[in-house]
Amino acid sequence: MSSAHPLDNEHFRDELSNVDHKGSRLWIYPKKPKGKFYNYRIWFSWILMVLMFAGPYMKLNDRPLLLLNILERKFIIFGMVFWPQDLNLFALLMLSFILFIVLFTVLFGRVWCGWACPQTIFMEMLFRRIEYFIEGDAHQQIKLDEQEWTGQKILKKTSKHILFWILSFVIANTFLSYIIGVDELKLLVRDGPVAHLGKFISLAIFTSVFYFVYARMRELVCVFICPYGRLQGLMLDKNSLVVAYDFVRGEPRGKLKKDVITNNGDCVDCKLCVNVCPTGIDIRNGTQLECVNCTACIDACDEVMVKIEKPKGLIRFASLNGITEGAKMGLNARNVAYTIVLAALFGVFVYLLVTRKLIETTMLRTPGMLYQKQQDGKISNMYSIEFVNKTFKDLPVELKLIEPKGDIKIIDGEKIIVHKESIGKTSFFLNVDPKEIRKNSTPVTLEVYSNGILIESMQSKFNGPVFKNTH
Ligand code: SF4
Ligand code: SF4
Repeated sequence: MSSAHPLDNEHFRDELSNVDHKGSRLWIYPKKPKGKFYNYRIWFSWILMVLMFAGPYMKLNDRPLLLLNILERKFIIFGMVFWPQDLNLFALLMLSFILFIVLFTVLFGRVWCGWACPQTIFMEMLFRRIEYFIEGDAHQQIKLDEQEWTGQKILKKTSKHILFWILSFVIANTFLSYIIGVDELKLLVRDGPVAHLGKFISLAIFTSVFYFVYARMRELVCVFICPYGRLQGLMLDKNSLVVAYDFVRGEPRGKLKKDVITNNGDCVDCKLCVNVCPTGIDIRNGTQLECVNCTACIDACDEVMVKIEKPKGLIRFASLNGITEGAKMGLNARNVAYTIVLAALFGVFVYLLVTRKLIETTMLRTPGMLYQKQQDGKISNMYSIEFVNKTFKDLPVELKLIEPKGDIKIIDGEKIIVHKESIGKTSFFLNVDPKEIRKNSTPVTLEVYSNGILIESMQSKFNGPVFKNTH
């Protein structure tokens, strides 16, 4: 007997589960999930949520563990400060991260979406649970929405949306803390909105966006907006492990009839897997863009299989090849290539990180300034020098001239101190004996030291009148 392939019936491709034939939104009422995978998800989500909410308060070296201050272009990752000058490192980190996601998706499908994405975690573990608590399970929610406005309905809807607003406000605060830092946020609380109007407006915007996403947008974010979701079709192949329906075992589907022996497969067409799906799809149609791998359908189907005394796993984590040919998940050429590229990128990233300069120096001959002749006959050029101190300590800096022979005169004092996590600038004159000037533009080499340690060797040019070489 040949098994019916779900793709033999392709009408599901012509319509969306959450849009009717006129193009209006169909509200999805997923049935409250329960089961082994859902319990794992609860535990995993709570661990992630604790980390997410506590993240801005966690410090390393007295710095936030993670700060992504786009406004001031300052980024702290695991207590290490990254400046715009570290753009190469940051770009490489982002590239490695994107490649990691691609590789991970090739191997394990969209498991990130269902298990670790903040959008899903907040939606399913906070907002949806509040909804179940106040309005009941899916069928009670449908009933409530269909009934006339009564005092009880107003009370339920109002309390739900007030709680949604409060939760959105808490999430917006956390989100903002990752951008400006928790200390800045405390200032906003202490001084009030008028004193920090910009931050207050940002907070209000973030709160409104989060509320709109969780109260109205919901699965539309995963299906239409998230670029990762839309790209997954490019990343998955027949060996990718995804939440999949075993059509070989399940088809032909059909209702169980008492005392009637049929040739049906194990699927009893109860549609419980569809009813629990937060994106409203029927996984029996095969892997679809809308599936966030939340595993709610696995739990629902396993419960049915137990009841009808069939083995669990009609819907399970499996690859298409695993289902059709019984093939085990293995490495293919694409996976190996991705792994090699990822390892190489990561290696370069670690190398750059380890050899990253803690003081970055930029030296320029001051533009528009010609050489000057000093009273002692020496020729001088003026230079501007800028230091970026990426450490958490104030650092003294000394300059040592290597070539040509001459001396350095720092304009605003002899000692240069670059304060922690800041940019220091100064100017200096380089005084050179005319005999040292061989050409119109003499090469200059200058070394930068801090606490006796060579930080950087700088190159520049020295301008002066051409003297005839008498040597
Ligand atoms: S098909 Fe299953 S795993 Fe995919 S989103 Fe729906 S319930 Fe979750
Ligand atoms: S829950 Fe299982 S048995 Fe029920 S329709 Fe879905 S696949 Fe078939």
